[in-house]
Amino acid sequence: MIEHDIVVIGGGPAGMAAAVAAYDSGAHDVCILEREETLGGILKQCIHNGFGLHKLGRELTGPEYAAVYAEKVAERGIRVYTETMVTNLSPERVVTAQSTKGILKIKAKAVVLSMGCRERPRGALNTAGTRPAGVYSAGTAQKLMNCEGYLVGKRVVILGSGDIGLIMARRMSLEGAKVEAVCELMPYSGGLKRNIVQCLEDFNIPLYLSTTVAEIHGKDRVEGVTVAKVDENRNILESTKRYIPCDTLLLSVGLIPENELTKSAGITMDRVTGGALVDENRETETAGIFACGNVLQVHDLVDYVSDEAEIAGRGAANFVLRGKRCGQTIKTKAGSGVRYVLPQRVNADEEEEVALFLRVTQPFSKVKYTVSSGDRVLMTAMRLKAAPGEMEKLILKPEKFKSAASEITVSLEVMQ
Ligand SMILES: Cc1cc2nc3c(=O)[nH]c(=O)nc-3n(C[C@H](O)[C@H](O)[C@H](O)COP(=O)(O)OP(=O)(O)OC[C@H]3O[C@@H](n4cnc5c(N)ncnc54)[C@H](O)[C@@H]3O)c2cc1C
Repeated sequence: MIEHDIVVIGGGPAGMAAAVAAYDSGAHDVCILEREETLGGILKQCIHNGFGLHKLGRELTGPEYAAVYAEKVAERGIRVYTETMVTNLSPERVVTAQSTKGILKIKAKAVVLSMGCRERPRGALNTAGTRPAGVYSAGTAQKLMNCEGYLVGKRVVILGSGDIGLIMARRMSLEGAKVEAVCELMPYSGGLKRNIVQCLEDFNIPLYLSTTVAEIHGKDRVEGVTVAKVDENRNILESTKRYIPCDTLLLSVGLIPENELTKSAGITMDRVTGGALVDENRETETAGIFACGNVLQVHDLVDYVSDEAEIAGRGAANFVLRGKRCGQTIKTKAGSGVRYVLPQRVNADEEEEVALFLRVTQPFSKVKYTVSSGDRVLMTAMRLKAAPGEMEKLILKPEKFKSAASEITVSLEVMQ
C-alpha cells in the first residue's frame, strides 16, 4: 500500500484540470491514474476545432486543448500513472488498480472521480434486423478514423443528432463518404445549434426529426436501413417506413457516465444525471470523494468540464488541508420545465457565489428562470431560448442561499 494525499481517477480533461487545481490550492501530493497510454481522454480523437473558446479564449482542436492541460500537469511535476486501470474504490478511499507493473493499492486522503462516460450501444436500442458489420457507435467510428486512419464506410446513415452524431456527419463527408441522413427520435435535435449549422446545413445533409431506424438490413455487411416516423409516444408509424440504401449505420444515441467505481464505493447516485449527488465543491455524499466532468453529468462543452473539475480539485485540496465541513446543507430541486439541477445540495456556510447548472425538459423560447425557497424568490433570469442540448448556468450569490430555507427550487416559465 502506498499513500498519496489526492488520487485523481481518469486523466481526461476533467482529471487533468482537477489535479492542477488541487496542486495550485496547496495540495502538492496529487497523482493521476489513467488506463490509457497517454493523458487526454476522449479529446485525443476529437481532431476538429471549437475547443477552448470560453476557457482559454482561443479556438483549439481536442488534442491541442488536452495538450495545454497535459503541459500544466507536467510543469507541476504531478505524478501520472498511465496504463493503470482502477478496478476498485472503497468508501475509506483505498484505490486498487491494475497496471503493467502489477497491482497497485493506494490509500488517499481525498479522491477525485473523473472517469468520463461511454456510448450507449446497439444492444440498448432493440432495433430489429440482422447483425451485419458496419454498425458502429459514432465515437468508435471517430476513433477508427481520426486515430487509426480507417474510413469506416462510404454511404452512411446516422441515428441520433447529439453533438457526436453531428460532428461525425461532417467528418465522414470531409473524408469523401456520402451521409444520406441524420435521423433523430425526438422532435428536436439534442446538439448545439452551431453544430447543426456547421455540420449538417453547410454539407446539405438532411436531418429527419421524430424519425428512427426501424430495421437494419444486410447479411455480412449493412446493405440498408428502414427508417420511419414516430408518434408522440415514440411508436413507429408503419405507413411512413422507407428504405435507405447504405453500407454503414452510426449510432449516436446517448452517453452513459462510467460510474461502476462510484457505485462500488456505495456513493449515493442521482437517477436523472446518472452521476453522484454532490455539493457545490463537487463532494459526493461519501466524505473526501469528489466527482467532476462527464462522470458527474454529461457536458456539451469541454470548457465547462475544466471549470467543474477545478471546483472539484480545489474542494479535494481543501478537504485534505482543512478537513470536512460539517454545517447545514440546502437541497436544490428541479421545478417545472427543468430536468435536473447540479449541485444537488449547497453548504449553507459557503462564502463564495454558487453556480447552479441545469438542463431543461424540452426546447422553449423566451423563458424566465426562477430560483425560489418556499414562497420567496431568490433570483430570476431571462433567456431568449432554452434547449435540452445546451446546459444553463445561474449564479446564486451567498446572501441569497444563506437566506433560503432547507430547499431551493429552480423552475422555468415561458414568457409571452
Ligand atoms: C465519442 C465522444 C466524442 C466527443 N466529442 C466531443 C466534442 O467534439 N466536443 C466536446 O466539447 N465534447 C465532446 N465530447 C464530450 C467530451 O467527453 C467532454 O467534453 C470531455 O472530454 C469529458 O472529459 P472527461 O475528462 O470528463 O472524460 P473523458 O475525456 O472521457 O476522460 C475520462 C478518462 O478517464 C479514463 N478512465 C475511465 N475509467 C478509468 C479507470 N477505471 N481507471 C483509469 N482510468 C479510467 C479514460 O481512459 C479517460 O482517459 C465527446 C464525448 C465522447 C464520448
